[in-house]
Amino acid sequence: MFYTLNVHSTRREEMIDITSDVVRVITKSDVKNGMCHLYVPHTTAGITINEDADPSVKADIIDRLRKLVPYGENYRHLEGNADAHIKSTLVGISLFVFIENGRLMLGRWQGIFFCEFDGPRNREVYVKILKEG
Ligand code: ZN
Repeated sequence: MFYTLNVHSTRREEMIDITSDVVRVITKSDVKNGMCHLYVPHTTAGITINEDADPSVKADIIDRLRKLVPYGENYRHLEGNADAHIKSTLVGISLFVFIENGRLMLGRWQGIFFCEFDGPRNREVYVKILKEG
């Protein structure tokens, strides 16, 4: 089963919680046990799992990535968004999450975040649900 999630970013750099969208897709798939593979088909965005309880965690992550890979330095890539490409590679563009008894097996404080590094844009996340057995 293959689905596409649409994500709309509103800032250049932003972490957007897409957990509820992923849960909705799993419910729709009716798969009780299996694997959820999330894939971002973009070169200046990423996807990660981290704390969704305290919003300052995602602010800290964005701030630190900005310091590690500053915007507008002397990069070779002429499009002007080299920092976003590098952040995409650092964060990664795909994730697996287990599905058990119809439930996404995230830890208590975990959420799934789409990471925008060159927004605002309309983005997509590909979701493949693999059924066990
Ligand atoms: Zn580029």
